[in-house]
Amino acid sequence: MKRLTVTGLTLAVALTGCGGSDDKKNNNSSSSLSSSSISSAAAISSASSAPEASSSSSLAVSSTASSIPASSSSSESSSSAAPVAKKNVLFFLGDGMGITTLTAMRIYQVGEAGSITIDTLPESAFVRTYSADGQVTDSAPSMAAYMTGVKMKNEVISMSTATNAYRPDGTQYIDAAGNSTCEAGNGEAVPTLLEQMKAQGFATGVVSTTRITHATPATTYSHVCNRNGENTIAAQMVPNGAGFNAALGNGIDVVLGGGLRHFLPSTETGGRRTDGRHLVNEMKTAGYTYVTNVGELTAATSATPKLLGLFTSSDMNYELDRNPQVEPSLSEMTSKAIDILSTRDKGFFLMVEGGRIDHALHASNAKRALTDGIAFDNAIKLALEKMEAVDPGLKNTLVVVTADHDHTLVINGYAERTDKTTDTHAGILGLVKSYANGPSKGQPTTDINGNPYTILAFGNGPNRPTTRIALDETTTSGKDYLQEAVIQLDSETHGGGDVFLGAKGLGAENFHGVIDNTEVFGLIKKSINLQ
Ligand SMILES: [Zn+2]
Repeated sequence: MKRLTVTGLTLAVALTGCGGSDDKKNNNSSSSLSSSSISSAAAISSASSAPEASSSSSLAVSSTASSIPASSSSSESSSSAAPVAKKNVLFFLGDGMGITTLTAMRIYQVGEAGSITIDTLPESAFVRTYSADGQVTDSAPSMAAYMTGVKMKNEVISMSTATNAYRPDGTQYIDAAGNSTCEAGNGEAVPTLLEQMKAQGFATGVVSTTRITHATPATTYSHVCNRNGENTIAAQMVPNGAGFNAALGNGIDVVLGGGLRHFLPSTETGGRRTDGRHLVNEMKTAGYTYVTNVGELTAATSATPKLLGLFTSSDMNYELDRNPQVEPSLSEMTSKAIDILSTRDKGFFLMVEGGRIDHALHASNAKRALTDGIAFDNAIKLALEKMEAVDPGLKNTLVVVTADHDHTLVINGYAERTDKTTDTHAGILGLVKSYANGPSKGQPTTDINGNPYTILAFGNGPNRPTTRIALDETTTSGKDYLQEAVIQLDSETHGGGDVFLGAKGLGAENFHGVIDNTEVFGLIKKSINLQ
């Protein structure tokens, strides 16, 4: 007992020291790369590969937990002598999936006492999400913090902390066409987890229901001072093309999502590129198999060397509106990505984003947010099942599930329990009804003017009636209903609350307590012993 306690203490000290030095290193590690010279980005991976040497010793610590080694060096040498196992990282990001949204997803799908897949992850932490300049972050610096370990300013994609998204005159560093106009000297690219794993021989994949050039997926593979330069972001993905991010080696192995418009010249229907380039054709030339619908995706074999799927011009449809004969679900995209990536020799990194939870919340449309949230949860469930088949016990697979930021969704009191939502039962999409025994039990609770109110509402958003009126549940559970807000804005904003992080598998125990979003990067690397 006593011995175990001592081991535990040693572990705590080691982890603190490691995290601290990682942070310092990452904040200073802007490497040798400027935004205007992305093509020399290979320098990134070599510059970054040295510093995390401390992570190998922390992996050794986890083996001491089960058996006390003669010395730490013997445990290190024995692990390095063992055959190298494939290691896999699956990073799931629910965009805007704050903790209230997570709770609402659970109640919507399985009732108050049920559990969705995210609830079953054995390890968890709270994550602070503030950015370098914002108390409330946008998706760019928050996801970039996970992917690079570096704190950056709002709207910046995987660049050093000092990088500005806006000029001194307040305008964005983009032109009207969506091209980046970042000037030289405005920050430097910082290496991403995907780039580092690619450089070390892992396969890589990026899957999202948004445009694949949107902030969250962009942080994994591109570097730009303003997230809205989506034409520039797209070009960074294309091997051999002008502006290619050379840190991607021969290119990302699997890319699935929306956003075709940033790959097509403006002379083609819907195309947004003003440089005349046809990036889909360039990707084909670079060896990609290109698919555009669920049938073609299904037909792609696991031996496909490189796969590009762009299923919509802009974002993919919400789950509630998706035509399953045409557009793949997030689960179907995730499944295909795992089929392909898990055949590779060294293992893989896969990022999967449930990207439109956020968009529905911005509209204050809870029903679409919750149904997209459940589609995200289903993709996690399927991924866990598939990975269990490939790697029983997830001994060499780390699955991390988190969100980039909160929203202003609230669950009003004091509703009696609703249980799950069905076609004939509004559930959490309904009105607050009294739980108290007596004549009012099950009857709508009313505001100070005698009108019922919904369980779900927002801190701000488009629907703030001048005069509240009586509502009924047929209305409030309709798919286009917008929940009411306290402050009227055109579009609901993100919120500043901490987010949940859940983990399972290899190194999942590294994730606990209240952590900064920048720490996640180092903890993932430590978990898989990535140098
Ligand atoms: Zn976001």
